[in-house]
Amino acid sequence: MKIDLIKSVFFLTLGCPKNENDSQMAAGILEEAGFNVTDNAEEADAIIVNTCGFINDAKTESIEAIFDMAQFCGKNVSQNGKVAAGPQNPDCEGGMQSCAEGDGEHAGDIGEKVLIVSGCLAQRYGEELYKSMPEVDIFLGVNDYPKLPEILRDFDGKRQKYLNEYQPGCMEEFPRKLEKNPYSATIKIAEGCDNICAYCIIPKIRGKYRSRGMDEIVSEARTLADAGCRELILIAQDITAYGKDLYGDYKLAELLKKLCGIEKLEWIRLMYCYEDRITDELIEVMATEEKVCHYIDIPIQHASDNVLKAMNRRSTAKSIRNTLKKLKNAIPDIHIRTTLITGFPGETKEDFRELADFVEEMKFQRLGVFAYSKEEGTAAALMKNQVRRDVKERRKNAIMQRQTEISLESNRSKIGQVMKVLVEECDETGAYIGRTQYDAPEIDNSVIFRADGRSLSPGDFVSIRITDAFDYDLTGELAD
Ligand code: SF4
Repeated sequence: MKIDLIKSVFFLTLGCPKNENDSQMAAGILEEAGFNVTDNAEEADAIIVNTCGFINDAKTESIEAIFDMAQFCGKNVSQNGKVAAGPQNPDCEGGMQSCAEGDGEHAGDIGEKVLIVSGCLAQRYGEELYKSMPEVDIFLGVNDYPKLPEILRDFDGKRQKYLNEYQPGCMEEFPRKLEKNPYSATIKIAEGCDNICAYCIIPKIRGKYRSRGMDEIVSEARTLADAGCRELILIAQDITAYGKDLYGDYKLAELLKKLCGIEKLEWIRLMYCYEDRITDELIEVMATEEKVCHYIDIPIQHASDNVLKAMNRRSTAKSIRNTLKKLKNAIPDIHIRTTLITGFPGETKEDFRELADFVEEMKFQRLGVFAYSKEEGTAAALMKNQVRRDVKERRKNAIMQRQTEISLESNRSKIGQVMKVLVEECDETGAYIGRTQYDAPEIDNSVIFRADGRSLSPGDFVSIRITDAFDYDLTGELAD
């Protein structure tokens, strides 16, 4: 059945909060152009799968989601609709061509809905996937969302692809479709990245660093606050580089001060900070402005200078130690989240020992570990001394095992304390689930508590006395 007119669109978003932000921006552009953006896939004429193409596991998840949605759209999923010798096959690290075979030009069957694949996987592999995934009607890169209304209005059933590179200059402004109750919302302050870490493909997908105008960011933050946002989460590939390209100087501290002036906001959270750009000025603002959460996300990736150098990271174990010490001196209860990579090419037993000792010494309250993923197109993919998969995984698990104990110790130290908690949901047992200022959404701890018959809503703040602690959660009772 040919789709006469696309009126309503459904988004399935994968990957990081930045991708979530892109979907909201794309939805805002469509709504402004008169399309209906629905959260009911059944009633949609077109389905947009906004993919992640960062590392193998994410690529596999994206490909499987595309095939699932292709079936949902009534597409004639090609014989190898299953991810055959695809990315998750260890012997197929990095390459995509082998995922699916097809002539690419003629859509198998238009099916009942139009299937669009956007995001980082499309930007990175769009040309190959266009040939190998005939189920998909349109491939849309990360820089082509503004074209969506025109593309959907003119869609005539012929397969298309838009995979344009980013345009230099500051990040453009677009309308954004907000969640129904945006009590917690991210705000993207820049796009792209200039850091060129040896293992990372993002600069090739997202382009060079482009800051948004400060006034535009503050104005969007006001709109979010007026719409009910109480927790504002600053995101970018690297928020600490904010302003250098646009104003010739790092401006995150100044931006933060301005955002703290928005009365309705309760919490402002900093994610994706690069260690060596955490300035004294920024720490000062974090320590003195009440709205800024005593929480910071600083992906350090490793702690051995040999490995940090091979990763093309500017940090050293010494500079990381100094920055963390400065943060803890200025904000004694600061909770630091970090991310580590094990098994980077050339990582020796000694390097790993250094990393494990560093984790022991620093006792990060929040920590995630990834086993190195060889990504073609990155400098690290060409490096000798690739570490065996089982070794990478064993090292990752060893760190996470110790981290679980560290997290439990940290949580136990909170028993008896009264903490401010942002209510997020009520589960089927009637227990409420929320977060403290020390916890970012989805990746950190939760606080589970009962409200003694009081009816609470997502976005409410309550005082909770902590009564018990677990590896990654706390339980408590209302204190007020
Ligand atoms: S800072 Fe490094 S890891 Fe992060 S997006 Fe930029 S290049 Fe990738």
